[in-house]
Amino acid sequence: AKERGRSNVQFYDASMTAVAAERLFMKTMLAQALARGQFFLHYQPLVEAATGRPVGVEALLRWRCDELGLVSPAKFIPVTEETGLILPIGRWVLDTACRQARAWQEAGHPPVEIAVNLSPRQLRDPSLVDHVRSVLADTGLDPALLVLEITEGLLIEDMALSRRVLTALKGLGIRLALDDFGTGYSSLSYLNCLPFDILKMDGSFTRSLSDAEGDNAGGQAIARAIIALAGSLNMVLVAEGVETAEQRDWLTRNGCDLLQGYLLGRPADAQAVTQTLRALERE
Ligand code: C2E
Ligand code: CA
Ligand code: CA
Ligand code: CA
Repeated sequence: AKERGRSNVQFYDASMTAVAAERLFMKTMLAQALARGQFFLHYQPLVEAATGRPVGVEALLRWRCDELGLVSPAKFIPVTEETGLILPIGRWVLDTACRQARAWQEAGHPPVEIAVNLSPRQLRDPSLVDHVRSVLADTGLDPALLVLEITEGLLIEDMALSRRVLTALKGLGIRLALDDFGTGYSSLSYLNCLPFDILKMDGSFTRSLSDAEGDNAGGQAIARAIIALAGSLNMVLVAEGVETAEQRDWLTRNGCDLLQGYLLGRPADAQAVTQTLRALERE
């Protein structure tokens, strides 16, 4: 048993080293990724539940590394937050997404909202508000079409700063979405203290509407409560992770405003999303 214990420890150590080595390698590669043009954006439609019409898209960052291939943002974004690289990368995302939204408008599409994810780290960047203002000015994008999505995480750490920055952003005429709602801690206190317009109910709640036995009463009760909360606070409620027609129908019946998920459209490049938008507009 002792022998086995020891070899387990060795195995564990070896795998820890591999993870650490991969992170270090990623750090090095990420430092050059912007200059090498390895980032690109995918866009995923958000549709109005009641009508099925697309109202906008969320921009999702993609990284194709020569050595690692396509790396998930869930994996590489935390690394960029650690190194501070998220600041130039985040500015690139905002720039690119706003230019794309403007291009869609110029090509004669009905105006689509563009939602861009903001890392909590970016909120602590003193130049954030100025940058958003200048991107809006440079692209000529209507501020009403820009939504910034923020995940709960670090907001609470400095509530005064968060409120100051979010209020300044709102002053530009853009809207703010609280992302992954329901997954973090203290999320309810944000609603009262911070100027969010949109609540994005995390995909885990959509998934728990049903389970192996069919309807899941507990999951449905929680989703209903979140939808009611958004309604009574005059916030737009987006359900994330909608994958089945049953989920779509339940969410629509129960007063959810917007839907997002593979059922309505997978994240895809601008060209493919243009087709999806066209198809959804016609439906
Ligand atoms: P998120 O903001 O919650 O984005 C939604 C994620 O759910 C995306 O994963 C999307 O591809 C995925 N998704 C959409 N519909 C479905 C569905 O029906 N089922 C399932 N299972 N998943 C669905 P993705 O693109 O891998 O992004 C992961 C996370 O990385 C994002 O979560 C966001 O937190 C972060 N992220 C992505 N792009 C950016 C960015 O430009 N800046 C920052 N700061 N974070 C980003
Ligand atoms: Ca998001
Ligand atoms: Ca989310
Ligand atoms: Ca998420």
